[in-house]
Amino acid sequence: MAERVVVITGAGSGIGRSTAVKFARKGDKIVVADFNEKGGQETVDMIKAANGEATFVKVDVSKFDQVEAMVEKSIELYGSLDVVFNNAGIGKIIPFLDYTVEDYERVIGVNQNGVFYGMLAAGRKMRDLGVKGVIINTASVFGYLSNQYTFAYQASKGAVRMMCQTGALELAPYGIRVVGVAPGTVDTPIVQGFKDAGLTDKLKSNQMRGDLIQPEAIANAVYLLSLEEADVINGSVVMLDDGYASF
Ligand code: NAD
Repeated sequence: MAERVVVITGAGSGIGRSTAVKFARKGDKIVVADFNEKGGQETVDMIKAANGEATFVKVDVSKFDQVEAMVEKSIELYGSLDVVFNNAGIGKIIPFLDYTVEDYERVIGVNQNGVFYGMLAAGRKMRDLGVKGVIINTASVFGYLSNQYTFAYQASKGAVRMMCQTGALELAPYGIRVVGVAPGTVDTPIVQGFKDAGLTDKLKSNQMRGDLIQPEAIANAVYLLSLEEADVINGSVVMLDDGYASF
């Protein structure tokens, strides 16, 4: 397979980092996009140490102008835009009645608006370049299931779920595919707050096989979904949850 240009947001940590490493190992050129420069640069270093190709691009995905600039920069660096993984996300654990409007808007700004901005900026460029690209968005089982103290997160991931479905419909005329992934409980820094609250056993028991999902497992599945062999998968959100949402 010809090497592709792959942009991954939130690639400075967790799922994004593992996915960046996976695609790079397969020969793709990676734009490691994150607002955490240190984490992003570490991911680039990991990829380069394994003889892969990657560049860090700083972005706050909650700002449309920065997302557009990220897409422009990726094309300037590597000449195309084949896969965009809108993956950056944040969580906040707050009882519903303690929410401030700012708390809510920050989570929606990153998790929901960030995905919209990524789809819009990437979709326009893929159309202009005539690239039949793939856009993959990170939703969550929490886009399907309710959960205490994560109201804004649930709302944002429910929105991402529908953005995958309806975005696929909008972009299909250009040959661009949109797919979502809905991970279960993955062992990354985002779940640290739950661990700190003594909920590790509960987190593990969410999955059918009783353990946290490793980010590499999510990366493997995202990679499969990006391939031409997965061409029939479009507008779907694929559960990557070891059965969490099924029992
Ligand atoms: P993580 O905290 O390890 O990684 C998130 C990354 O996103 C970090 O590098 C962070 O710097 C970056 N980021 C945050 N806000 C940003 C912004 N405004 N602009 C650019 N980058 C930003 O967490 P993770 O588990 O790897 O999360 C990745 C995605 O997976 C998120 O969308 C998260 O909601 C989703 N997810 C995680 C789990 C889980 O259990 N870990 C489950 C379902 C879905």
